[in-house]
Amino acid sequence: MGNMGRKGYREAEEGMPERDSARPAEILRTEHLRKVYGTGNNEIIAVNDAGISVAQGEFVAIVGSSGSGKSTLMHMLGGVDRPTSGRVFIEDEDIYRMDDDKLAIFRRRQVGLIYQFYNLIPVLTVEENLTLPCELDGREPEQCSMTGRCSLQYLVEADGSVYPCDFYMLDEYRLGNFNEDRLEVLNHARENLGFLQRSLKLDPACRQCPYYHLCRGGCQRLRDPGPDGAYYQNYFCRSYRIFFDRYYGEITEIGKQIGKR
Ligand code: SF4
Ligand code: SF4
Repeated sequence: MGNMGRKGYREAEEGMPERDSARPAEILRTEHLRKVYGTGNNEIIAVNDAGISVAQGEFVAIVGSSGSGKSTLMHMLGGVDRPTSGRVFIEDEDIYRMDDDKLAIFRRRQVGLIYQFYNLIPVLTVEENLTLPCELDGREPEQCSMTGRCSLQYLVEADGSVYPCDFYMLDEYRLGNFNEDRLEVLNHARENLGFLQRSLKLDPACRQCPYYHLCRGGCQRLRDPGPDGAYYQNYFCRSYRIFFDRYYGEITEIGKQIGKR
């Protein structure tokens, strides 16, 4: 891989990596990955015979000087740039054997690449930039408050303090500090709080509710514990029902009109 230096919890190796039967399931593997730009005297070998194996839950950092091939490697791992030769397997599927359409869907649903530069589309608004991947995928963007469960978020204060949601930026919900703690420590703190799990304890009445597909019990911050703490009830429920009773016809009509666009 050019002159790239690499390190992490586990070092990447040249060529085909050794398998370790005690490791968790492998999710990413490359075989003799190579990328060459230009030809003849202008030929530049950006990545040369890279063999990498990453297991589920493993964190790997790839470091190297500017121009050593890190971005080229990441683009090939993410399905963005076809290698000159070699193969990339994600969950044992050789991604560059996919046709362009299948590869585009794979990138959209399976890969998250965060670029140094944001690569936003300048003619679109912030909201349009955020919702574009959902629209390309034929899905409507949804807020976590409309899915019936909290989403995985890291709300970070200027001092690095991390919270599970901007409505819960309170001392008792502080997960740790982004500058000091590893992600697994923050995630562990979230689990100990039972933050996501609590949002799954939906009021049984919601499952029977004719408006469940519109409301799904609402945001966690609007729910109070039920009688024995086994589930949580939305304290605006009665108002929601009055509103849906009155405007259900109009809401569904608006939905149909939007769906036609
Ligand atoms: S508390 Fe509400 S806004 Fe916050 S993550 Fe949960 S559903 Fe979303
Ligand atoms: S209207 Fe009330 S019962 Fe129906 S889904 Fe919403 S919170 Fe649950």
